Order: sequence, then C-alpha cells, then structure tokens
Amino acid sequence: MRADPLAYLTTELNTLREQGLYRSLRVLDSRQQATSRFDGRTVVNLSSNNYLGLTTHPKLVEAAIQAIRDFGVGSGSVRTIAGTMAIHMELERRLAVFKKTEAVVVFQSGFTANAGTVSSILTKDDVVISDALNHASIIDGCRLSRAAIKVFPHKDLAAARTVLQELPASQRKLLITDGVFSMDGDLGPLPGLCDLAEEFGCIMMVDDAHASGVFGANGRGTVDHFKMHGRVDIQVGTLSKAVGALGGYVAGTRDFIEFLYHRARPFLFSTSHPPSVAATCIAALDVLEQEPDIIDRLWDNTRFFKAGLVAMGFDTGASESPITPVFAGEGSRAMKLSDRLFEEGVFAQGIAFPTVARDKARVRTIVTATHTKDELQFALDAFGKVGKELGLI
Ligand SMILES: *Cc1c(COP(=O)(O)O)cnc(C)c1O
Repeated sequence: MRADPLAYLTTELNTLREQGLYRSLRVLDSRQQATSRFDGRTVVNLSSNNYLGLTTHPKLVEAAIQAIRDFGVGSGSVRTIAGTMAIHMELERRLAVFKKTEAVVVFQSGFTANAGTVSSILTKDDVVISDALNHASIIDGCRLSRAAIKVFPHKDLAAARTVLQELPASQRKLLITDGVFSMDGDLGPLPGLCDLAEEFGCIMMVDDAHASGVFGANGRGTVDHFKMHGRVDIQVGTLSKAVGALGGYVAGTRDFIEFLYHRARPFLFSTSHPPSVAATCIAALDVLEQEPDIIDRLWDNTRFFKAGLVAMGFDTGASESPITPVFAGEGSRAMKLSDRLFEEGVFAQGIAFPTVARDKARVRTIVTATHTKDELQFALDAFGKVGKELGLI
C-alpha cells in the first residue's frame, strides 16, 4: 500500500489537538433561531448572524416556496449564459433602490462579491490600502488582483494617510474597509476614510456584510448611518446575515456594475442563485422597508446584553454593534469558556488564531431581534457563573 501523501495534514490536525484548538462542527438540528438545538442540546443561540430572525420569517418562507413552485429549484446556468432569471434582475433593481445607487449586481455570496470585485477592477500596477482587520474575502480579492497591498493598523487614519502620501499620485488606489468588523464589532472610520479617498484620489470601498440590515435607516448600511451618500464608490453587502438567506451584492454606478457583469469571475464562472433565494431576498427587503421596528428590537437587545456583560466586569473591547466579543486571552481559554457556556445552555463560539491574533482569543456573541429578555438574562447568568470559574471576572 502506498503511503498517504496527505499524512502531513493529519500531523497538523494533531498539533491543533495538542494546543486545544481542534474544533468539531456543531450540528444544528432545529431551525436557526434564538433558542436552537445544536448537537442535541437546546441552547440560547448567540452565534448566528441571523440578526433579525429572518431565516424563519413567514413572509420569506412563503416567498421561497412560491418561487420554487413557479420556477423550480435551480437556475441551470451562470448569469452570463442562460442563468439570469427575471427574479434575479428584480432583486438587483430592488437593491439599487434600497441602497440609493444607480445599479447593483448580486453574487452567490458576500465572499465572492468581495473577491470577485476587487480582483476584477485592479491590476498588478495598482495598490490597495487596507485595514489590518479587513475580512478574508477582501484579502483574497487583493491577492487575486496581484495589486500591491498596503495594510494600515486597525482604524488608524494617520497611518493610512502616511501610506497614501508615499504612493505616486498617478498610481490607481483602492482604499478599503469593513463597515462593521466581524470579530470586534466596531465600525470602520468611514467619514475620515472618505476624506482621505477624496484628498488622494482613491476609489473608496466598504464591505458592509455585518451592517446590512443592521445599521442605517431600514438597515441600509454604514454609508447611510454616517450620511456618506455619494462619497463611497463601491458598497458590498451580504444577503446571508441579517437578510436571512444567501448572497452578496455590490452597489455603485451603472457602468461599474456593467463592468462586473463582464469581468467578475464568480459572476461569469459560477452558477447563479436558485430562484427561491432571489425571491427570499426580495421578501426580506419588503420586511426591512415595511417593518423597521424589527431593527429597533435588535438594538434594544444589543444594549441590554452589552450592559449586562460590562456590569459583570467582562472585557468586551470596542464593540459598537450587536457583535460583542468577550476576551479570554489565549486560544485554549476562549475555547474552554465556549465549551463551559455550552454545558450551561449557551452557544457562543470561541474564536482563536488564525481568525484573530494569538493573544486576542475570545468568545463572540451576537444577539438578535428575536431573543427575549429572559433568554438574554439566562445567557448573562451563564456568563457570570463560567466567567468566575475561569477567573475572567
Ligand atoms: C460574512 C462576511 C463576508 C462574507 O459574506 P457571505 O455572504 O457569508 O459570503 C464578507 N465580509 C465580511 C466582513 C463578513 O463578515
């Protein structure tokens, strides 16, 4: 028998086990909702991105079922051949109105929206100026573009300015930030970055994955939140988190979007959404436009939960969003905190290197609009008990 050429991967996995960083996937065997059943245990769920509870909203469910009955379960092709259905165009039209931009293109995911956009608009002669904590899909897009990548320390406008000052005026520049940083829950400094983009002639891009449906009027995102309309050239959003389904979108000028239709590789080479996904997203936009009080409930729960953690003395960092990290030092400690919380009936995922820096391991919590105060208080009580046990408070 020949030796397994993949045996080196087993060695790597064993290293993870020794470091207490090996994770098996938690399996959800109920709906994705405020209290869910993972691995057979019913727990208060603080780990989903289902901010508004839309994964199970009756209007979205009905829209998906109706679209399946009308149009079937698959699109059968990529968008640029036979896979553009009227419902895909309708979703893009609705998103453009929602975002108040000329046009929108929808991708299969937020990941492909970022990677496909950045990689198609830049070449090796160009440069990206990128926040150190920007999402992996942005980093991959930058690498695929072969542009030079200049990383500035997290949210450090002065450092970004220094980078920009050293670049030739003639070089094409993309200045890029997350709207909400997914592991810390803080906001990108959009007003200051827009000023820099204008001063140095950069293309300005924001990835609003965790802001879509959460920040701005009716969940329009951080550009709306900061009143930066017209100053951000490229807005990426996701349809996979607060919107409750799956997908990513890019909003901007008509010609920019038309260019992506011609050049963004995930758009050209990967099959479009099933019609039910597009229908679900359209129904989600109806909910955001017609029932914005759902977003108020999200923020009410966010304030309650954060205040509870802070009052007990946990280190929650600089979060400004429904994402609240609870710092625990090194990776194995964060995993221990997460495991003990799970035993106490609370699911809050531990996050360690390489997702975050080695000494910044944490448990990440995300509340939703659909959690009751009782569920949140139950979770706070569990944090209090386990936090004392592990000497975090
Ligand atoms: C989740 C996330 C994405 C990817 O979105 P998907 O729709 O899940 O692929 C992109 N950027 C950021 C900042 C994210 O948090």
